[in-house]
Amino acid sequence: MQAEDVDGRRESGCGAERLKYDSSIQMLSVQPDTKPKGCAGCNRKIKDRYLLKALDKYWHEDCLKCACCDCRLGEVGSTLYTKANLILCRRDYLRLFGVTGNCAACSKLIPAFEMVMRAKDNVYHLDCFACQLCNQRFCVGDKFFLKNNMILCQTDYEEGLMKEGYAPQVR
Ligand SMILES: [Zn+2]
Ligand SMILES: [Zn+2]
Ligand SMILES: [Zn+2]
Ligand SMILES: [Zn+2]
Repeated sequence: MQAEDVDGRRESGCGAERLKYDSSIQMLSVQPDTKPKGCAGCNRKIKDRYLLKALDKYWHEDCLKCACCDCRLGEVGSTLYTKANLILCRRDYLRLFGVTGNCAACSKLIPAFEMVMRAKDNVYHLDCFACQLCNQRFCVGDKFFLKNNMILCQTDYEEGLMKEGYAPQVR
């Protein structure tokens, strides 16, 4: 069977993306003359002088806790991480979910908070995202090609096509 990678001709521009699971926490002071807000953690009214706002909800300072280690997230560094309805501190999040997948070029794991490059279903370390023949790196807007699951620059891709097209006949 002649394996012709149909996706080999698919081309797209580069674009880095950051995987986003984190939300910021705001600490707000409660105005005395406003109606007390309900806490999303314990469902009681917040009568403290300060409350936390996170995930579009309001929380007692004591109620916004990591589901794993119970640390108060309002103090840890004012970022929380959510996944599968869990609210987690950064440390636990990394411990539990800290991997994006394997880099399609070097096959090492990619931690969840690294910038990644994506091409089709593959993810790559930023450093690994280069033409796998000539190691040319790509800039935003450059074209790259996926051929037999290899990243190729335009030059190498076209050269590959030429070779295929003009392969010498075996006598
Ligand atoms: Zn509460
Ligand atoms: Zn924790
Ligand atoms: Zn890699
Ligand atoms: Zn190349």
